[in-house]
Amino acid sequence: MDQSVDPLAHTPDSSVDPQESLERLLRDLRTRREGLSDREAARRLQAGGPNELVRRGGTQWPRQLVDQLVHPLALLLWVAALLAEVSGTPALSVAIVAVILLNAVFAFAQERQAEKAVEALSAYLPPQARAIRDGVTRLLDARMLVPGDVLVLSEGDRVSADARLLTGSVEVDISMLTGESMPVLRTPLPATGHRPLLQAHDLLFSGTSCTGGEATAVVFATGMRTELGRIAALSQRVEHEESPLERQVRHVARLIAVVAVVIGVAFIPLGTVFAGLSLGQTVNFAIGLLVANVPEGLLPTITLALAVGVRALARRGALVKRISAVETLGSTSVICTDKTGTLTLNRMRVVRCWTTQGEVAVASVRSPVSGPLARMVQAGVSCNNASWDPTRADSEAGDSTELALLHLADAVDVAFPAGHTDRLLQFHFDPQLRRMTSVDRSGDGAVARVKGAPEEVLPRCTSVACDGAEQPLDAPTRAMLDELVATWAREGLRVLAVADRALARDELARLTRSAAEDGLTLLGLVALEDPPRPEVREAVARCHAAGMRLIVVTGDHGLTAREIASKVGIGGPGTPIVTGRDLERMPEADLDVLLARHRELIFARSSPEAKLRIADALQDQGQVVAMTGDGVNDAPALRRADIGVAMGRSGTDVAREAATMVLTDDNFATIVSAVEAGRQVYENVRKFIVYIFAHATPEVVPFLVYALSGGRIPLPLTVMQILAIDLGTETLPALALGREPAEPGLMDRAPRRRGQNVIDGPMLARAWGLLGGVSAVLVTSVFLVTLLHGGWTLGADVDSGRLHHVWLQATTMTFLGIVACQVGTAVAARTQHSSLRQVGFTSNRLLLWGIAFELAFASAVVAVPALQRVFGTAIPQPWLLLLLLPFPVLVWGVDETWRWWRRRTARMPAALA
Ligand code: ADP
Ligand code: MG
Repeated sequence: MDQSVDPLAHTPDSSVDPQESLERLLRDLRTRREGLSDREAARRLQAGGPNELVRRGGTQWPRQLVDQLVHPLALLLWVAALLAEVSGTPALSVAIVAVILLNAVFAFAQERQAEKAVEALSAYLPPQARAIRDGVTRLLDARMLVPGDVLVLSEGDRVSADARLLTGSVEVDISMLTGESMPVLRTPLPATGHRPLLQAHDLLFSGTSCTGGEATAVVFATGMRTELGRIAALSQRVEHEESPLERQVRHVARLIAVVAVVIGVAFIPLGTVFAGLSLGQTVNFAIGLLVANVPEGLLPTITLALAVGVRALARRGALVKRISAVETLGSTSVICTDKTGTLTLNRMRVVRCWTTQGEVAVASVRSPVSGPLARMVQAGVSCNNASWDPTRADSEAGDSTELALLHLADAVDVAFPAGHTDRLLQFHFDPQLRRMTSVDRSGDGAVARVKGAPEEVLPRCTSVACDGAEQPLDAPTRAMLDELVATWAREGLRVLAVADRALARDELARLTRSAAEDGLTLLGLVALEDPPRPEVREAVARCHAAGMRLIVVTGDHGLTAREIASKVGIGGPGTPIVTGRDLERMPEADLDVLLARHRELIFARSSPEAKLRIADALQDQGQVVAMTGDGVNDAPALRRADIGVAMGRSGTDVAREAATMVLTDDNFATIVSAVEAGRQVYENVRKFIVYIFAHATPEVVPFLVYALSGGRIPLPLTVMQILAIDLGTETLPALALGREPAEPGLMDRAPRRRGQNVIDGPMLARAWGLLGGVSAVLVTSVFLVTLLHGGWTLGADVDSGRLHHVWLQATTMTFLGIVACQVGTAVAARTQHSSLRQVGFTSNRLLLWGIAFELAFASAVVAVPALQRVFGTAIPQPWLLLLLLPFPVLVWGVDETWRWWRRRTARMPAALA
């Protein structure tokens, strides 16, 4: 056979004309309406390559690296280097340049790592597509699609390759390609000559999405050969949109830099005129101040902390698309959640049925059934798009409500052959209309079968099926049914009404939805159970502890929703229920009052527009809103909410694209862990800001001592030593603080306010005042002790002679003193509220390694002769070194006491109340 033929010969010409006649197109693509075989597809995949966009112009990094060299803080350091050179200290100048370079490389590496973390996310949730392979519809990785594959599309699906419609019709959102915002209709009508490709009415393009309808289509181009690949947003990269956190920190960093420059410059005349220092000395002072204060390493460290947060979230089942979302998540104050599938398992089973034969529990039904019950079950499997093969455990596909009806049929021995060969047409389930209808061939004519929410179906019924005959649906029966629906709903059951109507043949030609769904015969009601997810209860309790509000927004019946909600701990019997209709009539002002008055609410029978209004109203109240959604119509609300949450398993591609965060397990509890992770990252950023800021005081005070004494007390710390601290010893501990495990009580506090600044007064007071202040006193003392012990007196010359070595030892002591104090600061900064005992001394291993590195680096600076020369250090006397031992404990101890005191006073008012 043709096994010897080059496999490439099988690959259809990549330049088929998608607008030629369908028969010819299929022939050119060497495929059929039934799709390809798996083996053939595999061959084509190998020859033609996977269906993905290859990023062009990937080498962005030289520019990124240059960016790191010319941002404002780096420029400031360049100026400092220049000044150092001019003022006659070339070694310092070289050192500062080295700092700039090191810093740039470090920042660059961190940002690359952050980017990689986000890019790696796509591996967690590969785009999928449904295609017919070997005659069966299968869900595949979209990258496996090849020309000739037959795609199966329905509402909410993303189109993953360029394709020509075969059957059905769909509405598509092509804004991605054309900017056109209204969806357009695409149907496989006979072609009317060539048109511009994008306007052809029977072509679908990769990157667009299907907003309604159902269709099959044959793929004619994949990967870079698609229109998307051609026009492609070619260097489409993960956008790093600056988060408020990063913006705030950048502002603060610049502000500090400006203050440092102003003070430094102002000091030059003051120092020379009043204190009698030389110009060189004051310039040196200005540079020292600058280098000590410019928090150059802060921003990349924050970006990396956020990116690490992104990765941590992914591990917990929450994929965020923007790094900045990690921060927003942490401030979430309201979660608006779906019910089905998020609070519940989405594993529905029919537990009770009502027909005129009576009310029965499904478990007790003896098969086979007859009469209205049999007719209802039949309608339930016909008006149904789910599929399930009872002989294969994992063969369930489709909507869980519909699967439940298949299970019912299986339980009562009603056959449900795969594929609906009798189906003439369908009016698919519309979440707004809350019902679905199929029209099936039946004998000579046809029958319309309707299922949906009782409020929608019962008013359209005029009669009710009895054994043998049909009776008018009278008022007492309606009242009884309404009561039954309410009773079932109060038990947390989802209720569907099922009805049908025989259609004459001549009715079929111009059948509209409203005509098909009118004058129906009620067959019965079914009640479905969908148990709450077991882990949700605890997650809800955590939300409450964390001061977050919960609002349930569902298409289901209010009473059903309220029961399920209260089962998981949201609200209770008195929780207000607002139906879609109530909401439509409600003016904005009333909605605001309602949302302000009740912390927990149920919006039932709601429309997707309701979600948009709710999100708006809550945001106006300053809330940070997380909103779940799964349908096409939810996309606007998902975009509007601060955190749009889509489901990775059950949602549509459209919802996933609009969302900020995708849950791989569809689980409410994951949203709560994501909020926790967000809070943790934010708090950790605050922790290392405290740590990095704390060194400013002990670095600046020595210069002030020097300057204010008019140079009579020698400089306690050289600029080179400052650099050694800022860029050598401190880097790793700061990074390690960014990985600190969650502090106890993190989820027992109210969410932070929208727009609250990450750097606030109390934090600066703690960093500069408390931690920095104690450190400054300690290091200045140890400096003076060293000098005095070495025989120094006020005003003595230390630039040469015997005292010079003493001075070198003294500055070394200042340097080591700061390092020792920063060890204490690092341990203190680990918690903002809790005691060290609560978190455990060894729970952040990385920090312990960081401290070990810090000490090793500092020892090298002091002990290695080559480094001694560079940093101007000398080994101090051993007993002086012993003096340093208590420093870390003292610094940490003062902060520990302060935290203890704060915890006590924070509890006090509550105890009094
Ligand atoms: P939810 O917010 O729980 O996801 P849906 O929008 O899926 O709500 O469903 C709303 C209502 O529509 C349900 O209470 C049910 O009465 C009806 N319904 C749901 N699924 C179907 C379906 N496949 N066919 C007919 N009616 C349905
Ligand atoms: Mg649903």
